[in-house]
Amino acid sequence: MPADISIIAPVYNEEANLEAFFTNLNEAIPPSYKWEVWFIDDGSTDSSPEIIRALCQKNKNIKAIFFAKNFGHQIALTAGLDHAKGRAVITMDSDLQHPPESIPAMLTEWAGGAQIVFAVRDNTKELSWFKRTTSSLFYKILKIISHLDLVNGAADFRLLDQKVVAYLIQYRERDRFLRGIISDIGFRQKVIAYSEKPRHAGTSKYSLFKMLRLAVSGIVSFSSFPLRVCSMIGFSIALPSMLYAGAIIYDKLVNGAPTGIASILTGVFFIGGLQLIFIGVLGEYLMTIFKEVKQRPLYCVTETIN
Ligand code: UDP
Ligand code: MG
Repeated sequence: MPADISIIAPVYNEEANLEAFFTNLNEAIPPSYKWEVWFIDDGSTDSSPEIIRALCQKNKNIKAIFFAKNFGHQIALTAGLDHAKGRAVITMDSDLQHPPESIPAMLTEWAGGAQIVFAVRDNTKELSWFKRTTSSLFYKILKIISHLDLVNGAADFRLLDQKVVAYLIQYRERDRFLRGIISDIGFRQKVIAYSEKPRHAGTSKYSLFKMLRLAVSGIVSFSSFPLRVCSMIGFSIALPSMLYAGAIIYDKLVNGAPTGIASILTGVFFIGGLQLIFIGVLGEYLMTIFKEVKQRPLYCVTETIN
């Protein structure tokens, strides 16, 4: 008999948060629901695995998956979706920034027929200036260059009906930007607001590099605009250059004008730089294809409990 609700919580070095997280879930979820929580240990190096094991022993509705190494938040969420069989599945962070108190509101929407309930943060005070600005800039750019219309502040706190999950887990792309995929997937979607809390303990596990990777994944998997821009700029430089070259040749032949080294060098460096940037853009897409072609497994599970 599957649970009514499966909670999926990725864990990467969250030793000081796990017990409080479970206690808060216990208090927040209405007792009429049969629920379970899946901790996905994403290669933690602190005592999180031991704490998860102890929690699992005490409570059979706590389930756990341990990864062989750190695969990243999006992949941890994916592993959770692959395993959780609840009639509704809720993904949320295990650092209590996504408040369990918002779960009843999600369940109400679900009971009312919604198949996807996005929780969108309505306060940004808890975020650093840097994260706030880069995040809102990213969503604006993504909206312009792709057909996605993600709400700023919609992170990975959401409820999915099992029907959505069953379809979603057929998406096996490596570089995944789950919030884009899910907003694009259809079904009956609803949005609720929540106030993001400060981290219960510890520090953010999303390094600047990981944030950038996620942003690039989002753009590369939902937009071919960067490629188009490269060829458009290429054309808009190449065409006038040809005209200009004709004019220089004419000047040289007819008027015997001397050729300037400075202007040549400027041109060479400018075009050289531009080409390198464009090769980089191309490389991003190529790398994504390369990862797909290799068909490596998305993650490696070393142990599951309950
Ligand atoms: N996380 C993960 N793997 C990672 C990085 C983060 O499983 O490589 C988990 C982390 O334990 C947390 C959630 O993803 O439950 C969100 O991470 P974090 O709170 O560090 O991000 P932030 O809230 O600062 O954006
Ligand atoms: Mg967090």
